Amino acid sequence: MGRPPSLNELLGSKSRIKKDGLVKPKFLSKSEREKLVEPLITVHDQQDSRSRPGKREVVELSEDEDRQDYVKPTVVKRTKFNFDWNEDSDTLAGYEPIVNQRLSSLLRNEQRKSALELTYMGKPWQEKTLEEMTDRDWRILKEDFEITTKGGSVENPLRNWHELGILGKELENILVKRLGYKEPTPIQRIAIPNICRKDKRDFLGIASTGSGKTLAFLIPIMTRMNNSQPRPIAVKTLEGPKAVILAPTRELAQQIQEEAKKMIDCWNLQHPQHAYQVVSIVGGHSLEEITFHLSKGIDILVATPGRLIDSLENHLFSAKQVETLVLDEADRMIDLGFEEQLTKILNILEASSEVTTRRQTVMFTATMSPSIERIANGYLHKPAYATVRGTEASVPQIRQIIYHILTDEQRFQKVKALLSEYSPPIIIFITYKKTADWLAQKFYQETSVKVTVLHGSKSQEQREHSLQLLRTGKVQVMIASNVAARGLDIPNVSLVINFQVPKQFEDYVHRIGRTGRAGSKGTAVSFLSDEENPEIVKAIWKYSRDNDPTNSNEFDYSLKTLYKLGQNEMNEIIL
Ligand code: ADP
Ligand code: MG
Repeated sequence: MGRPPSLNELLGSKSRIKKDGLVKPKFLSKSEREKLVEPLITVHDQQDSRSRPGKREVVELSEDEDRQDYVKPTVVKRTKFNFDWNEDSDTLAGYEPIVNQRLSSLLRNEQRKSALELTYMGKPWQEKTLEEMTDRDWRILKEDFEITTKGGSVENPLRNWHELGILGKELENILVKRLGYKEPTPIQRIAIPNICRKDKRDFLGIASTGSGKTLAFLIPIMTRMNNSQPRPIAVKTLEGPKAVILAPTRELAQQIQEEAKKMIDCWNLQHPQHAYQVVSIVGGHSLEEITFHLSKGIDILVATPGRLIDSLENHLFSAKQVETLVLDEADRMIDLGFEEQLTKILNILEASSEVTTRRQTVMFTATMSPSIERIANGYLHKPAYATVRGTEASVPQIRQIIYHILTDEQRFQKVKALLSEYSPPIIIFITYKKTADWLAQKFYQETSVKVTVLHGSKSQEQREHSLQLLRTGKVQVMIASNVAARGLDIPNVSLVINFQVPKQFEDYVHRIGRTGRAGSKGTAVSFLSDEENPEIVKAIWKYSRDNDPTNSNEFDYSLKTLYKLGQNEMNEIIL
């Protein structure tokens, strides 16, 4: 075998190049290039059967390409189009770019699940066994449920209640058969396996209201208890609770306790000898009452920060065995100024802890803010973070109607008219207690509608009673202050009326969020006068304009003129 030609030889004399059949590089003149155009179009047309008739193309060769060696029209530059083809000759008609759609959503639609897609994509995750799941499948699953995680080594979400065997058969039966929770919600999918980790890694979950956060921490607490030795009552009384849940308001604490009780009552039926106890201690309950409850031996304690500190300082129970601490609605706790109290609680728990392994801290919030970030950094140790973006089903389906009505009397007449259109339960929010009492009186005098009143000056017992009356349908209407605005879950509220708008815009969002929960539709009607804070009016107007899932929001035109809404928009954009 001869030696390979050197570079010099390759670039050498004309004769050598000719001998090897090579052609000397040569630049074409413009006229020579133009002559090439016609034959090359033919080549291109033959190759691309989808070329459209009537289309004229100009093929431009790059400067250094040789005319004779040219075989494929690689550099095709269309300089001129005549859109003169018929509709039916457009092969792109009906073309749907599947890359713009979520492939998994295509796959969920059986009709579109073509053999071709299956060949290229394999089975969708729903049809795979656990062993068949690839990293990519897990990613798609997370995308499907709009779950994002961070913090490294975060456990994969649940595909269903049973698969990983985390919950155990009995608990699964209670959830599905007794309580009717067929599938976990997205936040439950990601929170449960992460909170149930053996190493008790801390967890921070961010998900909107109504997304099922309560069970996302109650199920792991229950699971952990089921997996450990049953404790006789005497031991429980000595050791204290295994889990402590902190909630910002009394009503929320009680709601959590009730949700836990539903699950626990079913469990206790089958395990009467080791029945679990969940107790809530909130402001308004007497120390004697609390002591009585605690003496029965508790497993789960739900509390508001203030009451918990009282009880810990008065040594009403021991906190040495607390394995899981949950901070629910952390954003609300910060808003209400509980940050200092939280630090105190954590310090007391730390000092009294006797848990052999570490104590787990779990935090849930609907919004992420710098202060949440700060307490997460301060209280959580290398947590797994999981965020669930609002999915279609969890975007509250609330229709917002904003009326311009001046006097309380006129507003009451409007309320009466609305009550005949909507079914109970209905919540009417007021800002001043005086109005609440006046309104209740009006209902009593002029209608046969049964109402209950809930505001901060009522005793705890009265507040609980009010909620119970509304939940059980004994009254149709609840007149409430902001106390009831956040987090409370009263099923099937069809209508929320802002008889008076709140002082803070944020409360508007929370108030109207009492309706349209868990995928059902709701309506929020608000009354505005001539003398509102213009900032609030503007914020409500913008919010109702930008959040209109049913495309039927209404904002009284006279308010727009009065408060000059939308008039400076152009200036704002230009500036
Ligand atoms: P959040 O705390 O996120 O605001 P909640 O825990 O109060 O939400 O739950 C909202 C509603 O959803 C409750 O009525 C609850 O019973 C219901 N829920 C919770 N988990 C499920 C589930 N897996 N399937 C169906 N409904 C659920
Ligand atoms: Mg909640």
